[in-house]
Amino acid sequence: MASDCIFCKIGSGEVQGDVLDHDDKVFVLRDINPQAPVHLLIMPFEHVATVADLDDSHADLVGRMVSMANQMAVREGLIERGYRLAINCGKEGGQSVDHLHMHLLGGRQLSGALG
Ligand code: AMP
Repeated sequence: MASDCIFCKIGSGEVQGDVLDHDDKVFVLRDINPQAPVHLLIMPFEHVATVADLDDSHADLVGRMVSMANQMAVREGLIERGYRLAINCGKEGGQSVDHLHMHLLGGRQLSGALG
């Protein structure tokens, strides 16, 4: 755990967050500033700063993140409608919290543009 990381603190329960589900490796947090009707963040309990820090040793973790995102998409009724999974990396990638997280966005027509 990184002592100054808000997502580590939410994962450990030190700070309150709207945590919807978890397994032993990852948890799901409802985004505090939603950009779509469904906007969830799927992330590891373990502090990994960015997606650039992942390698083959994290294969199980990445699989869990995607699997958890898909489970949440089912739960939110998005499987037929479609949804977006996105990971921002670093300053120019638009990452504002330095703890790896995958956005799950859905519930409205999302624009084709990613920039
Ligand atoms: P990114 O810009 O990709 O790093 O995404 C960070 C996301 O975390 C943003 O969508 C924020 O709204 C969200 N966020 C920041 N702090 C919190 C928090 N305490 N609880 C829930 N979501 C948060």
